[in-house]
Order: sequence, then C-alpha cells, then structure tokens
Amino acid sequence: MATAIITGASQGIGACIAKRLAKDGFDVVINHYPSDGDKEKALAVAGECRAFGVKAECYAADVSKFDQCEAMVKQVKADFGSIDALVNNAGITKDGLLARMKEADYDAVIAVNQKSVYNMLKHVCSVMMKQRHGRIVNVSSVAGLYGNPGQVNYSASKAAIIGMTKTVAKEFGSRNITCNAVAPGFIHTPMTDVLSDDLKAKMLGAVALGRYGEPEEIASVVSFLVSEDSSYVTGQVIEISGGLSM
Ligand code: NAP
Repeated sequence: MATAIITGASQGIGACIAKRLAKDGFDVVINHYPSDGDKEKALAVAGECRAFGVKAECYAADVSKFDQCEAMVKQVKADFGSIDALVNNAGITKDGLLARMKEADYDAVIAVNQKSVYNMLKHVCSVMMKQRHGRIVNVSSVAGLYGNPGQVNYSASKAAIIGMTKTVAKEFGSRNITCNAVAPGFIHTPMTDVLSDDLKAKMLGAVALGRYGEPEEIASVVSFLVSEDSSYVTGQVIEISGGLSM
C-alpha cells in the first residue's frame, strides 16, 4: 500500500486532502501541530480515513522545526515502510500592511509556510530517492502568484514555494520524483471564515465562477497530482481559483 504524508491535516484543506487520498487507497499520515486541540481534531480525521479501509495515523510535529520534521519522517518510514506522496499543506496567516507589519509576524509566517517545506523535503526526498519514486505537492496560493495587499509575509512564503517546487522538480526528476504546486484562490476553510464580509464580497467580485471554492475542489487536484495519471507532470503550478485570473 502506498503512503501519503499530509502536513497540517487536522482541519481545513489538509483534512480534506487526507480523506480524499484515503478514499483513493493511500495509507495516510496525518500531521498536526503539537497541541491537544489539534490532536483531537486529527484523531477524528484519522477515524474518517480508516472508514475507507486504509491505515491512518496521527503524528504531532511543528513543521517549522527541522528536528521535529526529521523525527516524524524517520518514525513514519519505520511505521509505514515507504513514503510515496508528500503534501506540504500546513500554513498560517498573520496579515497586516507592510508599514505596520511586525518583524515577528513576518518571521512566523515564513517559518511555518516556507521553511517547513524545506524541512519536509529535506527528509522525505532522501527516502523517495532510494525508492526511485515519489510524488510531492506543495500548497501555494494565488497570493504567491499575484501578491495581495496586507500579505507581504504570506505572499513571499507562497511565492518561494513555487521556486522550490520547480527546483525540486529539476533536481529529482531523474529519480522519478515529481514535484508540483497548487495555488488555491478563496476556499471555504477556518482560515478564510475570519475575513470580513466586505472583503469577502470584494474578493468574490473577481472570481469568474462567482463563488468560493470548497476544500474538496483542492483535494481532487492533489489526488490527480499524486496519482500515476500525472506521471509526466512536474514543476507545474496549478491555479485552483474559479478563474480569478485569466
Ligand atoms: P487552516 O484551516 O488554518 O489549516 C491549516 C492547518 O495547518 C491547521 O490545521 C494548522 O494547525 C496547521 N498548522 C499551522 N501551523 C503548523 C505547524 N507549525 N505545524 C503543523 N501544522 C501547522 O487553513 P486552510 O485554509 O485549510 O489552509 C491550508 C493550506 O492552504 C495553507 O497552506 C494555506 O496557506 C493554503 N491556502 C488556503 C487558502 C484558503 O482560501 N483557505 C487559499 C490559498 C492557499 P492550527 O489550527 O493549530 O494552526
């Protein structure tokens, strides 16, 4: 059975991806931030994944921490035997206009959204290299493609992920490892629930489909990118934004 690790999978898009990959037949590794609340939510996600007849286990790790990622990947390899797919999904926002943005808020977003991707790639790629097979999907954002006022930290982290995706695709292509990114637009999750009604209405005005996306609509594209159907797709950024930009 193939194994997929999904970071930040206790809720939102990550939880949805975990359930979709379980439905596809992957054994799933549900990474969650090390807190009691996240653990409880992750355990519920694991239960839903197991209903598809696969193995599903929760692993606590703050993915912004190199050592915690190393320990988690080592444990997953020992428990599952292989790591066939990695979805770098964990992310946070700490918004504010550049003029007012505190250095700590810039650094925190870069650490969780960008450094985490390095931390996970560094350890997972060495496993995948030995297997001579792997599928990696990094969750970027339309903010990384086009920028977004109030998100200089977030857009920097999400743009960086795109550069990392293309580089890893080039470095590991000869080992049969693909690496792609998805760039979601406005998706219904706890991350966007907190936005003001005014801002939500303004954002939707620019979406061709005239509605928010659902986490399932991100999970279905990730499902394709970790499947054999995408075997000749690598280094690409797939925007999933309902036609935000054309
Ligand atoms: P979400 O509901 O806030 O989920 C993010 C998950 O990541 C949470 O479970 C969170 O745990 C976890 N996480 C945060 N920091 C972590 C850390 N250091 N270590 C491990 N896990 C950590 O957000 P979402 O909307 O599903 O977003 C998922 C991804 O999609 C993110 O990368 C986000 O940037 C991207 N995205 C979302 C949208 C959107 O419209 N929703 C659009 C574009 C891109 P806690 O709850 O404990 O923080």
